[in-house]
Amino acid sequence: MTRDPRYDILFEPVKIGPRVTRNRFYQVPHCNGLGYQHATGMAVMRGIKAEGGWGVVNTEQCEIHPSSDSAPLIEMRLWDDRDLPTLELMVEKVQANGSLAGVELAYNSYSMASMYTREIPLSPSHLPVQTPNRDPVQCRAMDKDDIADLRRWHRNAVRRAKRAGFDIIYVYSAHNLSVLFHFLSKRWNHRTDEYGGSLENRVRLLKEIMLDTQDEIAGEAAMAVRISLDELVGNKGLEKNEAEDAIGMLAEIPDLWDVTLSDWSNDSQTSRFAPEAVEEPFVNRIKKLTTKPVVGVGRFTSPDTMVRQVKSGILDLIGAARPSIADPFLPKKIEEGRIDEIRECIGCNICVAHDELGVPIRCTQNPTQGEEWRKDWHPERSTPKGETENVLIIGSGPTGLEAANHLSARGYEVTLAEKGTELGGRVAREARLPGMATWGRVKDHREILLTPRPNVSLYLESELDADAVMDFGFERVAIATGSKWRRDGIARYHQHAIPGLVERGCLTPDDLMDGKRAGKHYLIYDDDHYYHGSLMAEVLGAEGNIVTYVTPAGIVSEWSVHALDQHRIHKNVIEACDKVHVNQALCEVKDGVAVLECVFTGALSETPFDTIVPVTARLPEDQLFLDLKARKDEWAAAGIKSIDLIGDAYAPGTIAAAVYAGHKYARNLDQVIDRDAVPFKREMTAIEGRL
Ligand code: ADP
Ligand code: SF4
Repeated sequence: MTRDPRYDILFEPVKIGPRVTRNRFYQVPHCNGLGYQHATGMAVMRGIKAEGGWGVVNTEQCEIHPSSDSAPLIEMRLWDDRDLPTLELMVEKVQANGSLAGVELAYNSYSMASMYTREIPLSPSHLPVQTPNRDPVQCRAMDKDDIADLRRWHRNAVRRAKRAGFDIIYVYSAHNLSVLFHFLSKRWNHRTDEYGGSLENRVRLLKEIMLDTQDEIAGEAAMAVRISLDELVGNKGLEKNEAEDAIGMLAEIPDLWDVTLSDWSNDSQTSRFAPEAVEEPFVNRIKKLTTKPVVGVGRFTSPDTMVRQVKSGILDLIGAARPSIADPFLPKKIEEGRIDEIRECIGCNICVAHDELGVPIRCTQNPTQGEEWRKDWHPERSTPKGETENVLIIGSGPTGLEAANHLSARGYEVTLAEKGTELGGRVAREARLPGMATWGRVKDHREILLTPRPNVSLYLESELDADAVMDFGFERVAIATGSKWRRDGIARYHQHAIPGLVERGCLTPDDLMDGKRAGKHYLIYDDDHYYHGSLMAEVLGAEGNIVTYVTPAGIVSEWSVHALDQHRIHKNVIEACDKVHVNQALCEVKDGVAVLECVFTGALSETPFDTIVPVTARLPEDQLFLDLKARKDEWAAAGIKSIDLIGDAYAPGTIAAAVYAGHKYARNLDQVIDRDAVPFKREMTAIEGRL
């Protein structure tokens, strides 16, 4: 297939200072939890993006000095020459695939607590760090000597970045994650010297470091400046007009402007709260301020939106972090006229969450993300089929769909049986909840791929029991029958059933999604702590019910902090509910009255309700598997070599975990798996003096 000429503009080269990128696809810096610690995994992951057609591939933020280290997050480091091999490896992998490699040099100040080095982070003013854990660490306001130190450290890092071979070297002043941004924004800069007060003063350090960088680079690489345009806190912080004035003062110094919103939660908004191209109203005037190319982001997955950004003079380069994670081959697919095959980001921020948790990146849509090197999982290639001919997959949720997708891509004959009337399992159901439509892409992408494949048979309204499975006699059977929400209240707070809950009846999220309702006053008991409880509150509130939300946690949807949208979810729940009780556990259900317990004091209180909605934990739907396992001695005679239980039916988890489970099953089929061995490659620490 060939590319649609409408998209030709996306494949035009763009000059960035002394370098030229082959197209307009630009992977902006993004964190990934691999970084300096899992160096080969990080480098291979970046190299694959270059292979997939991203003309520029950047690092994540790269620490320039031990006094601002981002532990427990795992980012890149350029503290001294010993960090060079990691960066050189990344540059090699990217340039080997014809792309430009960029590095985002960062000094974090307020946003990191230097938990590893124990050095004091330097900052414009005396303020505590703004870490998610609110660590008991304060930064030291910089004096002139400190400013001189910072400028020298940045120069040292630029010099080393050049030695590592980078094509683009960043000055980072964005996201509330950089000392230069903290100098720029009046809410973080309380200084009264020539580095504080007026905008001109607040821009001074940024300008000095830009000029230092230019001097150090000496025309041998491009300089990019990443700057945030608005903090979305009104005139307390940086606003668009002021940011534009700052860019106006510096307009022609860099070779590229990379523009974003601040903080990170505004720049990487989830799809529940922001559509594609949400940053456009903030970015739309930047090109009028500079002749230099401009890159910006907006969870761009549609080539038409990308073309519009370029043609309407908003952006020169299409920046992407999450879309490049979900589909490292997005540019190639547009280039080769395979638009339907793009694995579109769903905007769930599972990727962000795991970086925040200090573990290797993962992605709901792309199960190979983070596994490229350690498991040899290439996002577009796999090993051909093994000796097995046919596979039966039972259940078409994210697990079953992904297993069918990858198995059929490997060349197996795949039969997928689904008892419901549509494909997608939990994804199809959850995508109908408020704000969740984009998540339906998990199903849509796989359905689009599977439907035309001649080696795939899809059967809806086909509930299979053990007899049917034995009669069919497929060689391999994967049971992906999902899970159901519990009714007894057992989860994290209670390890025993809540008295009265089962006896008096309740409606689980499954019941509500099936359209069941009872009465007008609902009490949602959220001991799950991810997104479902909040969505049930939104659904019931929008229908005009009285909704009481109760959680033993201190905040609504606590785990969503990692996905950067907890504060937005909490707001929605406050607006949807009559009452929100945090730090309270449901401990008994009487007729029309729920007894709540304070998780600290044990003090009891009563609250009325018509129906309780326990959003607690789920139980695997594994009866079919257990029935078949009980007949294991009949498998061989029926021609069955294996029956496996996978995904939520094995252990309920996230959609990302379900997709991963389906993919893993498909990758491993007909491979020899040593169950006693570590199931991936590891990069080992070199013991000083021993290796
Ligand atoms: P997962 O997240 O692991 O993919 P889901 O709950 O999303 O799990 O999907 C499980 C799917 O399996 C549902 O669509 C359900 O209708 C289907 N299913 C459950 N039991 C059977 C069965 N016995 N035969 C066929 N399909 C089934
Ligand atoms: Fe997009 Fe979610 Fe994948 Fe992140 S994890 S890239 S938000 S689909």
